[in-house]
Amino acid sequence: DAPTVLVTGGAGYIGSHAVLALRDAGRRVVVIDNLVTGFRWAVPADVPFVEGDVADMALVGRVLAEHEVGAILHFAGSVVVPESVADPLKYYRNNTAASRALIEAAVAAGVPHFIFSSTAATYGIPEVVPVAEDSPQRPINPYGMSKLMTEAMLADVAAAHSMNYCALRYFNVAGADPQGRSGQSTAGATHLIKIAAEAACGKRDHVSIFGTDYATPDGTGVRDYIHVTDLAEAHLMALAALEADPARSHRLNCGYGRGFSVREVLDAVDRLTNRTIERRIGPRRAGDPDSLVADNHAIRETLGWQPRLDDLDTIVRDALAWESGLETRRG
Ligand code: UDP
Repeated sequence: DAPTVLVTGGAGYIGSHAVLALRDAGRRVVVIDNLVTGFRWAVPADVPFVEGDVADMALVGRVLAEHEVGAILHFAGSVVVPESVADPLKYYRNNTAASRALIEAAVAAGVPHFIFSSTAATYGIPEVVPVAEDSPQRPINPYGMSKLMTEAMLADVAAAHSMNYCALRYFNVAGADPQGRSGQSTAGATHLIKIAAEAACGKRDHVSIFGTDYATPDGTGVRDYIHVTDLAEAHLMALAALEADPARSHRLNCGYGRGFSVREVLDAVDRLTNRTIERRIGPRRAGDPDSLVADNHAIRETLGWQPRLDDLDTIVRDALAWESGLETRRG
């Protein structure tokens, strides 16, 4: 019997999809989430749920022992880049310091495997696109730095203790569970596909385009949008790799290796809804690179990961389906 997996932030957007993937694969799961941005209903009723903070080492220690946890998938954290600029210490607390406490509890309990939600924001403004894992990591905001510091802790801990880890560096995660069991639910979204889906569902009257003078084919920012269900699958495969070879750790980009511009995303939403969202051209947003696309050779080769939902229309369609049913699901 495979050991239980602890999912921190399992009530959040990406974490809840990972819980579904683990459960679908027959793995036992326990979730810790403080419900600050997550939702209790996002976790299936048959999955043990502990409301609490990952920085609470006593609580985490009890959960690790009681459930005989053999791996941790660590999603819990704060993710809003502009907020990290305004309140950096919140990010160094919720991301860096909380991760430090969680890792210490994991080492104390002898947990052998750790998977960490890292980000393309650790690369800052890349010199070369598509960006590979060995590119310089020079974050340009506290969010990216708070995640990079956790990567550094994990590398040092893996060298000193019997734990291996995988840092998965997410590009632009979007979409929703194709079966409609979870999706992006957080209010006050800042991400393009979520905002466009809200507009398409009549919850906003326009979408602002943040800059049209970027060095891209149509002048708007280009990003590597990855379907959240493919990303959840990558976590399962990363877990299998860590379990198969405890001597190896990994740092892997999670993206499709191709980008779409803001206009291409909005065109897709218009096409799929047969409507026209009002677009307002606005100024650039501070700290946005022209183009951010993953070199994904490493994750394909190391994990054998193969995207199954690599299609902008599929991502947008699943995001729209979730968005249109959100209020009824929330109850
Ligand atoms: N963007 C935009 N309008 C919005 C939100 C985002 O034009 O309301 C652009 C943003 O400048 C970037 C792309 O869409 O080029 C993706 O931004 P998002 O915030 O979704 O993700 P990020 O790449 O910043 O993590």
